Amino acid sequence: MLNSIDVPKQKIVIIGAGLAGLTCATELQALGFIVEVFEKSRGASGRMSTRRSANWEADHGAQYFTARDPAFIQTVASWMDQKQVALWAPNLKVFEDKHWRASQSRDQRYVATPGMSSLGKHLAKRLPIQFEQTISQIERVGSTWVLHSSEAGRMNTAYDGLVLAIPSPQALVLVKEVDSWASALAAASNMNACWTLMIKFVTQPAFDLDAGFVNNEIISWVCRNNSKPERVGDEYWVVHANPQWSQTFVELSKEDATAQMVACLAQLGFNCKDAAITTHRWRYASGSLATPPECYLSGEIKLGLCGDWLHGGRIEGAWLSGHKLATRLAALFPLV
Ligand SMILES: Cc1cc2nc3c(=O)[nH]c(=O)nc-3n(C[C@H](O)[C@H](O)[C@H](O)COP(=O)(O)OP(=O)(O)OC[C@H]3O[C@@H](n4cnc5c(N)ncnc54)[C@H](O)[C@@H]3O)c2cc1C
Repeated sequence: MLNSIDVPKQKIVIIGAGLAGLTCATELQALGFIVEVFEKSRGASGRMSTRRSANWEADHGAQYFTARDPAFIQTVASWMDQKQVALWAPNLKVFEDKHWRASQSRDQRYVATPGMSSLGKHLAKRLPIQFEQTISQIERVGSTWVLHSSEAGRMNTAYDGLVLAIPSPQALVLVKEVDSWASALAAASNMNACWTLMIKFVTQPAFDLDAGFVNNEIISWVCRNNSKPERVGDEYWVVHANPQWSQTFVELSKEDATAQMVACLAQLGFNCKDAAITTHRWRYASGSLATPPECYLSGEIKLGLCGDWLHGGRIEGAWLSGHKLATRLAALFPLV
């Protein structure tokens, strides 16, 4: 077992500050490695995301998570103790054959508080992260890695190990010149888009519902965001289109995608007349390898990949993937 005293101060760079990258970086740091994180957007947490406006906020990416693996269950319990996460028990329904019915699901659902992005922002506080740095190239120099970013060009720091904690299409761009195994994995993982609406209705739905799974329609999920714990601001609903429809129509204009989803909402019983609607397109929302390897590591060139797409998709998979890669990567470095 490695501990923080025995491990030499090797430098590991992690690309991507979603849950997988944050988890991997946090655990490597705890083991005594020097870590640096690069993130292309302005803040941490990736697809665990909360859109904030003057009078409202809404989780427009991941909606909630479940916990089945013992290590993740333990971590979620500690997040709950720290008040970073809370249980969410929505009035949950299913739309099928033109009707809403009660859901039979007994899953325990967790959400970060006060928004889904809060957990990533909390984890990010203890890590050195450079935001607004889009890594555009990774270069092997001797036994080290050097990065190039769109904003800063070629950087000077040499790293002993490199972790890509980013969606597979973005990982593929970076690894295709340097590692054929990693490229094959990334190329085999298709990720689907997700068209998302954030809506303030003028006329509230007549039926009692906090969230609903929708089957056999272009919409797959509706959720009253304010039904989650500690949400503030105007009452907003989040609506996701299903992955197949979103991917097929990924190049629609926002106006056309919105119009089709609004028509579908009418079928579900929602009245969108005069509603305030904000539309977002997630280009790489979901997807996973059919046989998930959990994470990837080349011991020879000290290159690792982690993320939900390597571990069954979803938040629990992202955490587990980052967690497992940190352990495997740490084991590559000799003890002093
Ligand atoms: C609409 C939607 C709904 C979802 N619903 C659920 C749900 O209800 N439950 C659930 O469990 N999961 C859900 N998910 C999936 C969940 O969000 C993901 O499984 C999880 O957040 C993935 O974490 P990650 O760290 O692997 O990747 P990400 O969160 O995508 O993090 C990757 C990070 O890398 C950054 N990045 C990418 N390329 C570069 C680059 N070149 N340089 C620098 N930075 C880069 C990105 O900006 C991002 O911050 C949903 C996702 C979406 C989009």
